Amino acid sequence: MSQPLSNRIKNMATSATLAMAAKARELRAEGKDIIGLSLGEPDFNTPDFIKGAAIQAINEDYNSYTPVDGYVELKEAVITKFKRDNNLTYTLPQIVVSTGAKQSLYNVAQVMLNDGDEVILPCPYWVSYSDIVKVAGGVPVEVKTAITTDFKMTADQLEAAITPKTKMLWFSSPCNPSGSLYSHEELEALATVLKKHPNIYVVSDEIYEHINYTGKPHASMAGVDGMFERTVTINGVSKAFAMTGWRIGYIGAPDWIARACNKIQGQITSGANCIAQRAVITALNADASVVDYMIDEFKERRDMILESLNSIEGFKTNTPEGAFYVFPDISYFFGKTVKGKTINNATDFSLFLLEEALVATVTGEAFGNPDCIRISYAASQEQIKEAIRRIKEALA
Ligand code: PMP
Ligand code: GLU
Repeated sequence: MSQPLSNRIKNMATSATLAMAAKARELRAEGKDIIGLSLGEPDFNTPDFIKGAAIQAINEDYNSYTPVDGYVELKEAVITKFKRDNNLTYTLPQIVVSTGAKQSLYNVAQVMLNDGDEVILPCPYWVSYSDIVKVAGGVPVEVKTAITTDFKMTADQLEAAITPKTKMLWFSSPCNPSGSLYSHEELEALATVLKKHPNIYVVSDEIYEHINYTGKPHASMAGVDGMFERTVTINGVSKAFAMTGWRIGYIGAPDWIARACNKIQGQITSGANCIAQRAVITALNADASVVDYMIDEFKERRDMILESLNSIEGFKTNTPEGAFYVFPDISYFFGKTVKGKTINNATDFSLFLLEEALVATVTGEAFGNPDCIRISYAASQEQIKEAIRRIKEALA
């Protein structure tokens, strides 16, 4: 029987992060002892004070549809958070709460892009950006960066990528998958270029802002002079509060963009889950230092995994300053045959690790960089140690 799906879905790639997580789950169900270092998901539990707020919301009978853009108390908590953590002053009509930052990104693409509009994506970029852009009719324009410059795009590279069709720049800092952070000065340099092109808008995805090992304050593009009116700041609770399954993300944006996101959300999903929203009010009103214990642990793991990877011949790393990923260059292995398997690219290498070391990682190709793989260290130190031992053994 023919399966006449739309071209839209036929042309869309499957999320490589979720596909790898599903594959790992499948192999585990078959009895294989897979160590999952593929998914960007904190391995901590949601803090008790947040769970308590959800239980209270259930008992207080929060059952109904919420306002499409979120409860007013939640939008106020988002405003408080933006002021407290980022010194950004948003007002209620500039905030939209969604079912995860992923939906926030989708909304922005849908309301901002027309067919053929170009979106600059510094590589490596988060796996879903290019398909979210493409499904909205946009054209991703990849800007290659190098491990030697911590995978960051320079002002000159940005300038060279701009064409009359450029509509937006999308990036994450701290970056998934490289863990790189843009400093305020580096953002200013990019903004200097953007100011010559007043029709270009920016998506600044700051979902990893609290997972920052530098001790320096997080830098927001909307906080750079002249950028507030042109920037959509994306954030959410999945990473900082270990709430991936609760599905709450949000934006701070110019009113007209927020209004449009509210409009599309009203037709597509309505407001986000009511219980999760009540819990997030409590999460965001707390000082971010309540999750410092997670950040300290992630930092220890980062140091440990970097040291171990650097002891394996063929792994080239830089030092990620945030998020919970390392993005080593493994192109040394291309063209080599190990255990009878020829490795020609990062996808082959990631599959080799899955099959021969029983360690799940994600190919860099999914992030626009075919020389690297992404390893998530959102796993226990024992699991990471064992994974490294297995990788060494498989490659020996
Ligand atoms: N942006 C980045 C950079 C991410 O890594 C993720 C992954 N969770 C998201 C957005 C989406 O997050 P959420 O769980 O809030 O949809
Ligand atoms: N953002 C996480 C990751 O990159 C979760 C998976 C996803 O949403 O794609 O692994």
